[in-house]
Amino acid sequence: MDFKLSEEHEALRRTVQEFAREVVAPVAAEHYEQHTFPYEVVRQMGKLGLFGLPIPAEYGGMGGDYLALCLAVEELARVDSSVAITLEAAVSLGAMPIWRYGTPEQHEAWLPRLASGEALAAFGLTEPGSGSDAGALSTRAVLDEAAGEWVINGGKAFITNSGTEITALVAVTARTGPQEISTIVVPAGATGLRVGPGYSKVGWCASDTHELSFSDVRVPAANLLGQRGRGLAQVLRTLDEGRVAIAALGVGLSQGCLDESLRYARQRRAFGRSIGDFQAIQFKIADMELRTHTARLAYHDAALRLGSGGEFKRQAAIAKLYASEAAVASARDATQIFGGYGFMNETPVARHWRDAKILEIGEGTSEVQRMIIARDLGL
Ligand SMILES: Cc1cc2nc3c(=O)[nH]c(=O)nc-3n(C[C@H](O)[C@H](O)[C@H](O)COP(=O)(O)OP(=O)(O)OC[C@H]3O[C@@H](n4cnc5c(N)ncnc54)[C@H](O)[C@@H]3O)c2cc1C
Repeated sequence: MDFKLSEEHEALRRTVQEFAREVVAPVAAEHYEQHTFPYEVVRQMGKLGLFGLPIPAEYGGMGGDYLALCLAVEELARVDSSVAITLEAAVSLGAMPIWRYGTPEQHEAWLPRLASGEALAAFGLTEPGSGSDAGALSTRAVLDEAAGEWVINGGKAFITNSGTEITALVAVTARTGPQEISTIVVPAGATGLRVGPGYSKVGWCASDTHELSFSDVRVPAANLLGQRGRGLAQVLRTLDEGRVAIAALGVGLSQGCLDESLRYARQRRAFGRSIGDFQAIQFKIADMELRTHTARLAYHDAALRLGSGGEFKRQAAIAKLYASEAAVASARDATQIFGGYGFMNETPVARHWRDAKILEIGEGTSEVQRMIIARDLGL
């Protein structure tokens, strides 16, 4: 396995790194504090082609691989996790299932706008009463055969990108029979779809997250995504892929903590020396590098396996679990290195600290990742 990035991947990484530094970072704190969605940044990400990275060129995408998406997510998360999760959720949870399971008509209808970033797709699995136990969902869709329409009733919780001005659709996982779960595409603005107010979150404050309720929402029968009854299998595969990108997000956050800590350790003085001269600080920074590097190898491994069509479920869970715990540990250490300034919201590491925790929860908690790894080992 070759972990050296290709020239194309390296060029993409540098482009996104520069974009993150020059376009994302300057406005990150303002959007975070005001809890506003960064439409202009997202528009520019679209122009750069980031929303179409793994989508084929015939639908306006860049025709790249999953590693390309992960590299972009990593570089964005280095300065702003809200923007990184907006990209991750829009592409790996939103557009990719449409590409993977959609009909040619669905590809035509949705992919060009999603790949250009003009529109965002959301993934509606979690419900107020079911998260880790995804198969326990209770949203129902009944096929009205005479009208040729699905009629959807129920509710979803914590759905990313579901309430922006440019949200085009939510792929909703619903019970379509006693032992049957399917995925149905619900266009934004459908009659009976209510988008709740944005949550007040500890972190990811500039990302868009809403509760959704469905009251006799009618969509054409043709909005079924993939085979009827295969919804849970589709969702599990989507989450396996998404976890690789979430691992990349954790690596970016951890790297951002390392960048800031190195700079501060050289500049901040105490007892007549730079704090970076103290072994206690050096060891924290060495541990950050250790975790970031190891987590990066883990997600590259999972992304390369995914890209080559091989088995990657266990590697995705390992990467997600390790990178999210690495991010939490690096954010804690970075905050400590910054002392009192680390507790001030204007300091980037404080934002990293608030953004890190969700990585151990979203797209499968750390407990769920350990369950997947243990199961894959035969337990
Ligand atoms: C900001 C944000 C954005 C999100 N975006 C989306 C989105 O776009 N789409 C979407 O569908 N969902 C989304 N989610 C939901 C997220 O994926 C869930 O919160 C997550 O999967 C956990 O589910 P839960 O919150 O219901 O916790 P629960 O499943 O209720 O778990 C509670 C606790 O019990 C533990 N637990 C549960 N079962 C077991 C077990 N068998 N063994 C050991 N421990 C167990 C869990 O690990 C956890 O610690 C988002 C959540 C947040 C906070």
